[in-house]
This record gives sequence, structure tokens and C-alpha cells, in this order.
Amino acid sequence: MQIGILSEPTDQRVALVPEVIKQLIGGNNQVLVESGAGDQSYISDQDYIESGAKVTNSTEIFGSSELIISINKLPLESYDQLQDGTAVISSFQPFNDVIISKELSIRNLTVFSMDMVPRITLAQAMDVLSSMASIAGYQAVLQAATHLPRYFPMLTTAAGTIPPAKVLVLGAGVAGLQAIATAKRLGGVVEAFDTRLAAKEEVESLGAKFVMVEGATDDKAAGGYAVEQSEDYKQKQQALIQEKAEKADVIITTAQLRGKPAPLLVTEATVKLMKPGAVIVDLAASTGGNCELTRNNETIQVHAVTIIGNSDLAQNVPMHASQLYSKNIFNFLKVLITDEGKLNLDLENEILKSSCIAHAGQDLFNRSMNSDR
Ligand code: NAD
Repeated sequence: MQIGILSEPTDQRVALVPEVIKQLIGGNNQVLVESGAGDQSYISDQDYIESGAKVTNSTEIFGSSELIISINKLPLESYDQLQDGTAVISSFQPFNDVIISKELSIRNLTVFSMDMVPRITLAQAMDVLSSMASIAGYQAVLQAATHLPRYFPMLTTAAGTIPPAKVLVLGAGVAGLQAIATAKRLGGVVEAFDTRLAAKEEVESLGAKFVMVEGATDDKAAGGYAVEQSEDYKQKQQALIQEKAEKADVIITTAQLRGKPAPLLVTEATVKLMKPGAVIVDLAASTGGNCELTRNNETIQVHAVTIIGNSDLAQNVPMHASQLYSKNIFNFLKVLITDEGKLNLDLENEILKSSCIAHAGQDLFNRSMNSDR
């Protein structure tokens, strides 16, 4: 199997690192890497050559690869350069990009979207969402600490005592739990909130306080994802968040609903009541944000509160983000590629069935939207 890795100019990460390429080349695979693809993750062309990859230009990669792997979806016109039947792996987010699976099926590509890999034990080692969310949660706290005009830890000095920063984490999934752990390590006092009751134990095991609103809908059938709440619940929730937000120095929001806009948790009225200098980091910015005032990919100051709207903070740690992404891909390829270096298109396999969004001219994502996804 000829595997192609391209440089992604808007991202500091790279889809495969040399350590993983060495393991892949052990089988019947060759890897082509675009020159400079690893530069921003501090991986040189020479590192790739030493791993056994061929470093070349994008024309050769598009022209001869049987499988293209990227972190972000490439510009649509790039896929026109691929031969019919080429396989591509990326995070296409078909729930948020309603035309992507159709566009790629028209191009007769076999397309796997890593964000569609099911949340089952067997697929845990392929879970790029968790790998990246964990880094984003860690980074969110570091960003908040950098923008906060005060200390995070409690300090007793000759000039007086500084109280610890109060941190409120909204959404205690993968990113939220890492944010809690990081804020605790920095000495913050942390409260966290989630609609899934399962999060309570995890939050408490990290030494944070779990804040609860009674009456949440917690759908076990949603595959680990949260579900939309009733209007009554949303109002109670916003009132409680407002009460907590008034005292908080930092709010980290991570709440997501699969295939829907992020839930609104922090209203403008709540921001107005927050302490001057407080910081909100909104990791749900790309799907509309959990804060009413968030602007995607911007850091703004409103009502003396800094609001950082960035869902892609994993990019800020490109070395480890690339390493984890590569390892997730490697584990996925163990299912997708046979020992002979051929594509294993067993669409009865739960992992491949869920993640394959287009194949043989068919838009598989939209075809199965109303059945088993
Ligand atoms: P996510 O990114 O979809 O959402 C982030 C968090 O926001 C979730 O915890 C969600 O419950 C919460 N949320 C949604 N709406 C909310 C609201 N209105 N108010 C407050 N919180 C709200 O989820 P995630 O972080 O990727 O994962 C969620 C869960 O799935 C985690 O418990 C994780 O451990 C589990 N998971 C399991 C597997 C697996 O078994 N293979 C893999 C990944 C994640």
C-alpha cells in the first residue's frame, strides 16, 4: 500500500510521525511524505528519510498514493487530483459538514472519517477525538492562566495572602477532565458540571467539586455522547451557572452535542456579572460556542472579561499531538490494511462501517443517517 502524507499549511501537526512510519514500512507498505510536512512538529525531512519514507512533492503524492492520510480535510479541489478508488482518512466531521460525504463520493473515493470511529472499547486506541480533546483541555487552562491578570495558586507571602483562582469547568468529558486535572495542578479550586451523571465520579476523583442540576436527560444509547436537554432544564442550568460564574476567575467550556450546535451555557447577562479580568476559554467555539459572546478563532474582551474562542488548541502542542494522532491512525490501519498491504473493506466490521462515509460512488454517511448512526 502506497500511503501519502501531505503538508497541512494551516496546522502545525503532521498526520504520521517517523516512529509510526517505521512500524508501517515493516509490512507491505511504502510511505510518501511531502517535503516540509513535519517542520512545525520539529520533524525534519531527514528524520522521515531515516524512518524509511520517501520525501517528495505533493504532485507525486497525489498521483501515486493509494491512501492519503491527513489531520484536517484537504481543500475539496485537492481530492480531484486523486485517482478513482483512492482511500482517504481524515476528520471530515460529516455531522457538521453536510455536503462532504456526497462531494467525496462523487469523486469515487473510499473515505474514512476518524471522528466517526465508534466509542467502543475495541476502538479506544484509535480515538483521535479523545487524544486531541485531552491536549485541548490542558492547553485551555494554560491559556487561561496566561491571560488571567492574577495568580492561579494560593500564595502566602510577606506582602499578604493571595487566594487561589476559582475555576469552573462546563462539560466534564475528555477535555473537561484534563482541564480539571491541569487547573488542580496549578493550584486552582475547581468546580465542574456535566449533564451525564457518569461524570460525577470522574470529576470527584480529580479532587474537584461536581455541580449538579436535577432532571438531566442522560441517554445511555447515545454512545457516550450527551443529548439535548429540555427547556426547563436549560433554564435551571443557566441560572446555576450564573451563580457559579459570578465567583469564578476562569471558566473553561467544553460542552458539545454531536451533530448539533453546542449548548448555550454562559449568556451575555452571566458574562456581565463576572469579575473584571476573568477569562473564559470556549473549546466549543467551532460549533457555535457555549458562551453567547464567543467568536470562533478570536480572543476578545467584553464587559472586562477575556473570551478565547478556540476549539483547536491541540495544535499548540504539535509534537505530542502528532505523535498521538499517528498512533491512533496506526491502530486504525491495523484494521483497515491487510498484512499483504491491501485495503480490507469489510464494511461488516463495526469500526470500518461507522467510519466509512463514502465508497464506490456512494454517500454512505447520508444513506445510514436514519438507521444506525
Ligand atoms: P463531547 O466532546 O461530545 O462533549 C464534552 C462534554 O460536554 C461531555 O462530557 C458532555 O456530556 C458534556 N455536555 C454536553 N452537553 C452539555 C450541557 N448542556 N451541559 C453540560 N455538559 C454538557 O464528549 P467527550 O468529551 O468526547 O466524551 C464524552 C464521554 O464519552 C466521556 O465520558 C468519555 O470518557 C467517553 N468516551 C468513551 C470512549 C470509549 O469508550 N471508547 C471514547 C471517548 C470518550
